[in-house]
Amino acid sequence: MRSLLLAASNNAWMARQATRRRFVRRAVSRFMPGESLEDALAAARRLRDMRIGAILTYLGENITDESEAQAVVRRYFEAIDRIQAERLDAEVSVKFTQLGLDLRADLALEHTRCIARRAAACGQRLWIDMESTAYTDVTLDLFRRLRADGADVGVALQAYLKRTRDDLESLLPLGGSVRIVKGAYREPGDRILTRKRDVDENFYALCGRMLEEAVRRSGARLTIATHDRRLIRRIEADAASRSIPRDAFEFAMLYGIQSAEQARLAADGYRVRVLISYGSHWFAWYMRRLAERPANVWFVVRNALGG
Ligand SMILES: Cc1cc2nc3c(=O)[nH]c(=O)nc-3n(C[C@H](O)[C@H](O)[C@H](O)COP(=O)(O)OP(=O)(O)OC[C@H]3O[C@@H](n4cnc5c(N)ncnc54)[C@H](O)[C@@H]3O)c2cc1C
Repeated sequence: MRSLLLAASNNAWMARQATRRRFVRRAVSRFMPGESLEDALAAARRLRDMRIGAILTYLGENITDESEAQAVVRRYFEAIDRIQAERLDAEVSVKFTQLGLDLRADLALEHTRCIARRAAACGQRLWIDMESTAYTDVTLDLFRRLRADGADVGVALQAYLKRTRDDLESLLPLGGSVRIVKGAYREPGDRILTRKRDVDENFYALCGRMLEEAVRRSGARLTIATHDRRLIRRIEADAASRSIPRDAFEFAMLYGIQSAEQARLAADGYRVRVLISYGSHWFAWYMRRLAERPANVWFVVRNALGG
């Protein structure tokens, strides 16, 4: 089921069909407050009332038209400006393939630099999502170049990849922010840890490394991006046993998933952010959400049946 859903995520015909269907749009609304920036900002305001911050992402990937990539830059400018105007505790997260990476790496870098400068002027950190392994090397290379510019930028690293421990070691001297995630793409078996238990252990080990005192003192900041309550409890216990202050790292989850756990962590004094997606290009992203929990497919079916 997971493979089927991830294969479907790249299918343009299915994307066209699904985005026209009302029952699919109804099911998608569980994971995104709406397609407009206004919808995303309204959700960020509601989260602020619970002491939860936000990460806004404008959906879209693998853009092959330069003017479309430029339009994405303008979308992010708008988001950054509105976040500042409303004094929200929010940041934006971008994908390099949304900013022209499939056309030219230097184009994606230039576009991202523009967004990073705008974010810096507003005192906001900029996040880079990690995409499939076709892009891992170039993503890390561009991230290094942004750090060399002095940008306050963070990158996601995927615990399901065998290479990630080495990648993390190579990034530590740069001192930026790192968001540890399990990984959401369909990948060849030889590149990934195939057993869930091994992915979870790797996730725990990567977070443990980031929490070491020397690493924290170097300025590297950790974001623990998972809904896995067992893992969250283990990391909380590990941090407590090392007397690490609760505000020395942060948790992040996706909008609409484990909302009670998001509120619980915030009430317990941890920093929490919720990633809010918006925009009309939600199909591939939504297929990845279904693949993470195939039981979600029944939710779509129930919507189709009017339930
Ligand atoms: C803030 C944030 C940023 C991310 N950025 C990236 C990125 O840049 N690159 C990337 O490859 N991936 C990214 N991801 C996705 C990530 O890789 C995983 O696919 C996703 O988080 C599911 O894994 P999990 O850690 O929640 O653990 P899992 O073991 O998959 O899930 C643990 C539990 O969480 C709940 N859950 C998880 N997913 C869902 C869902 N879709 N619907 C309902 N319940 C669910 C279920 O109760 C499940 O039992 C991001 C995730 C988050 C939270």
